[in-house]
Amino acid sequence: YQPDNEIGEFCEEFDKMRVRLRDTIMEQHELEKGRKRLIASITHDLRTPLTSIIGYVEALQDGIAKDQNTYEQYLGTIHEKAELLNHLIDDLSVYTKQELGEFTLNLERINSGRLLNHYFEHKTYEFKFSNIKLILRKPFIATYINVDPYRFTQMLDNLISNAKKYTRSQIVVETTVRNYRLFITISDDGTGIPQDYLQNLFDPFFMVNKKKDQREKGGSGLGLAIVKQLIEAHEGGIDVTSTIDQGSSFTINIPIDR
Ligand code: ADP
Repeated sequence: YQPDNEIGEFCEEFDKMRVRLRDTIMEQHELEKGRKRLIASITHDLRTPLTSIIGYVEALQDGIAKDQNTYEQYLGTIHEKAELLNHLIDDLSVYTKQELGEFTLNLERINSGRLLNHYFEHKTYEFKFSNIKLILRKPFIATYINVDPYRFTQMLDNLISNAKKYTRSQIVVETTVRNYRLFITISDDGTGIPQDYLQNLFDPFFMVNKKKDQREKGGSGLGLAIVKQLIEAHEGGIDVTSTIDQGSSFTINIPIDR
């Protein structure tokens, strides 16, 4: 019988337990900090467009818009900010549902050509009053895909709204087919993204230039993380290529239902 040995083993075990406990506490602490940061950032993201909606509505009530043109311009801005809020809430809803394991898709077998034509009919209207050109390389490939139309629209919305935020003059949308997959590419001729950032681009809350993207673009850093989650839930994927000062191309792919 060697009591010293046993005491030694016990001390070793105890030390390991202490380290594990400390790590768990630190992990919890980090999670808690992350959660607080998340709430602060969401509050900020929700408040920014809301403040400007309230401002424009008040201005309209005060009769500041003297002519029809200014009136329509103010309404356009209100609409745009409300859409931004809508996107953000949609993105947050997917994010939290995913975190809670409650996310589901309502898949339908849909003709891709019809889906894209319908979506861009609505979008074209949004670009009518913008100085950015939306170029649709038609006809879009018409094949059958299994998608949740609401979530599919959300993906396209996120990619188009990013392209619109960062482009210089135009956005091009095109479709191709390869290896029984449909590819939808959305390209812009904007600022581009530094190569070093591409690998983190799809992480939740990642922004290339946090201050500028948040303040000037009303960003939350959730959009691309949601697109990735959604496209992967559709058994698809997303790729990006980008050149600084020339622009970026985001391509989503989805299996064709044969
Ligand atoms: P958000 O929801 O704030 O738009 P995203 O996750 O969609 O955030 O995008 C993350 C970051 O990636 C943005 O803050 C921006 O810096 C960069 N980014 C996304 N799309 C583009 C693009 N088309 N051109 C240049 N930068 C982009």
